[in-house]
Amino acid sequence: MPELPEVESLTHFLRERAVGRTVLGIDVVAIQALKTFDPPVTALGGLTITGVARHGKFLDLDCDGLHLVIHLARAGWLRWRDDLSGAKPVRPGKGPLAVRVRLAPDEEGLAPGFELTEAGTQKRLAVYVTTNPDDVPGIAALGPDPLDESFTVDALKRIVGGNRTQIKGLLRDQKIIAGIGNAYSDEVLHAAKMSPFKIAATLTDAQIADLHEAIITTLREAVERAHGLAAKDLKAEKKSGLRVHNRTGQPCDVCGDTIREVSFADSSLQYCPTCQTGGKPLADRRLSRLLK
Ligand SMILES: [Zn+2]
Repeated sequence: MPELPEVESLTHFLRERAVGRTVLGIDVVAIQALKTFDPPVTALGGLTITGVARHGKFLDLDCDGLHLVIHLARAGWLRWRDDLSGAKPVRPGKGPLAVRVRLAPDEEGLAPGFELTEAGTQKRLAVYVTTNPDDVPGIAALGPDPLDESFTVDALKRIVGGNRTQIKGLLRDQKIIAGIGNAYSDEVLHAAKMSPFKIAATLTDAQIADLHEAIITTLREAVERAHGLAAKDLKAEKKSGLRVHNRTGQPCDVCGDTIREVSFADSSLQYCPTCQTGGKPLADRRLSRLLK
């Protein structure tokens, strides 16, 4: 799932490739992905892409004041195409292609564009056409962006103060902090040497400062690693940069202990017992059965 660093990188990527180009047309293949009907998606045809921005995990293409807003969700991705002029018309219901954005040909006759794809059966990729990105409910509800200057230690202190939820859930909640998902919350908690199940309100001032440092450093480093990469290389880069997430059974880079996981109905978290939970494995009935 693309999180803040990957969406930030896609934002830069599209800024370099797409800004200044005219939208030729947009093919919505997966009709359920389109969440708005007024203005219609056809209204983007003929407009020029003037800017690209990120809001949390949302991508926002400004087309002469009309915005194409994209949320890639859990299994969505964006792939750039250097030339779509020979691309076959798309048939709904076949394959992962959800939306195709065709751009006007350049002087060399190449008509670039990009495609939004979504793997798997759960279709959550979402596209909005709006004059105001703040009208998109997921954007309107976003908490502060951790890469914004206003996200200080004091800001984080106000966020965790009195909050009785587990820190892992708090970090993932887009309404509390924008842009962090399942992967980077695991990474942040490993960097902060903190149990994912710790209750936010019990953090000391020193722990809040450590957590703040871990959030900023983890995300900035991931953004830097991803910077300048082509959209198609981002997934592999994300995977290779992760220290605990999706690394169950492998040794921790920091201490050598075996990375463990806790499974939930539709997700799992990974952590290092020595670094994060005083050496004690967290309760996970399914995994403890497997390890015996
Ligand atoms: Zn460790």
